[in-house]
Amino acid sequence: MQPFELIRPASVAEATAAFRGDAAFLAGGHTLIPAMKSGLRAVERLIDLGSVPGLAAIGVESDRLWIGAMARHAGVAGSPVVRSAIPGLARLAAGIGDPQVRARGTIGGSVANNDPAADYPAALLALDGIVETSRGTHAADDFFQGMFATALADGELITRIGLRLPDRFAYAKFPHPASRYALAGVAVARFADAVRVAVTGATTGVVRWQAAEAALAAGGPLPEALDHPDLAADLHADADYRAHLAGVMLRRAAAA
Ligand SMILES: Cc1cc2nc3c(=O)[nH]c(=O)nc-3n(C[C@H](O)[C@H](O)[C@H](O)COP(=O)(O)OP(=O)(O)OC[C@H]3O[C@@H](n4cnc5c(N)ncnc54)[C@H](O)[C@@H]3O)c2cc1C
Repeated sequence: MQPFELIRPASVAEATAAFRGDAAFLAGGHTLIPAMKSGLRAVERLIDLGSVPGLAAIGVESDRLWIGAMARHAGVAGSPVVRSAIPGLARLAAGIGDPQVRARGTIGGSVANNDPAADYPAALLALDGIVETSRGTHAADDFFQGMFATALADGELITRIGLRLPDRFAYAKFPHPASRYALAGVAVARFADAVRVAVTGATTGVVRWQAAEAALAAGGPLPEALDHPDLAADLHADADYRAHLAGVMLRRAAAA
């Protein structure tokens, strides 16, 4: 690993002010540190968000559940507030990776990274999420822009995530047996005025599934498989298999 300067800011303002040159915010380090060690990412200034107070707070305000960017997956899974407000989200967090991953990984790091097989991005899209940052807010619909791409500008720091409280929410994934990342994962949220469905793992970036939303809203038959131009394919699963798995996960999430 190349030498780097470690900065421990005491506030969001200090963290963003410290961002210059080849800088990176450090959350749990689960993606960033391996990328630095393998030389995929050169970082000269590492800004540790663990020293910023208040970034892991969880609470309900009006019609949204707000989760601080530094909330660990284990913290979300075990939070009485999350379990009461959106129980399916607590179950999603409990299904991420393994105990070590859940002890270090954060919702902010997951959302900023936007891995095409990550679980939280699907929940954000289905739950009509808001990504609050040091510069303003992004609707989840505009935030996720394909594989590892987001609307974040350089030096823009996620402070918290707001999720609209649904009448019902469920997430079903077919996990890769080693990493637990989704080969296909489907999140379904029902609100008084809408049904929103999002898919992760099966495509090259998280997406809404409009055909499934229309079918659930109308009470009609659900699509058997995901029909999408950007299906993912790799040595773990080909495109047809992922499209089929998405259909199976949709049924499981809808039934749950
Ligand atoms: C073995 C293993 C298994 C995993 N399994 C799963 C799984 O089943 N499902 C799943 O969804 N995920 C899985 N993950 C991903 C994991 O849960 C983490 O969410 C992910 O690696 C990001 O890590 P982190 O939160 O530690 O962020 P970091 O690695 O610290 O940061 C990741 C990126 O986000 C940026 N960043 C971090 N926080 C912020 C912020 N607040 N604002 C702006 N930018 C920020 C960093 O600069 C960096 O570019 C797995 C990871 C590993 C290593």
